[in-house]
Amino acid sequence: MLQSLIELVLICSSITNPATYLLTPVVVDKLWDTQKDEYVEGIFRKITEKTGVKASKIVITQRGEPNAFAIESWKNEIIVAGGLEKRTSEGELEAILLHEIAHIEKRHSLKRTLLRELILLSSLVILFLNYQVELLLFIMLLLFVTDIEYSKKTELDADRMSAELTKPENLVSAIKKFSVSEPFFSTHPSSEKRVSMIESRVRTSSQS
Ligand SMILES: [Zn+2]
Repeated sequence: MLQSLIELVLICSSITNPATYLLTPVVVDKLWDTQKDEYVEGIFRKITEKTGVKASKIVITQRGEPNAFAIESWKNEIIVAGGLEKRTSEGELEAILLHEIAHIEKRHSLKRTLLRELILLSSLVILFLNYQVELLLFIMLLLFVTDIEYSKKTELDADRMSAELTKPENLVSAIKKFSVSEPFFSTHPSSEKRVSMIESRVRTSSQS
């Protein structure tokens, strides 16, 4: 019974994982009621010209909490949500958009989807080859933690790229402004860790 349930969860997840990656751009535009915004597009154009990073489409939505997301799939898009552009200075918005551009440039979403697929398929192989539920659950937990840690690493990578391409103090200020306490198994590092990584890079580069 437990084996069949685990098999079903793994098989369904190994199908929905790549499907989510491919379908997200279509679903997001429909569900989030996105639209163009001249001010946000202007800042976006400015930073793509200044930094030379590849341009993507940028839209806003009034839905959700103030935040920004990178949709990286067959269609690259950045979504500014919940009136974020009204609650940030131009410099803070620039820093946040560069963080999202970094996710697209570094193909973080594709790499995470592939990592998850590898985790799911290897768990299925373990299950079919030598069924030992304790071993399988242990490996799944290990792989789940790997996925979470990889996600945290991509967040710090995106912060690093943003801080290199714009004023780091703008990114620090934006992180502090929207700081929330992360749950134990969060895919994001804490605001304190992000700020301390950026500040230590600033200290290192000013010494060299
Ligand atoms: Zn991010």
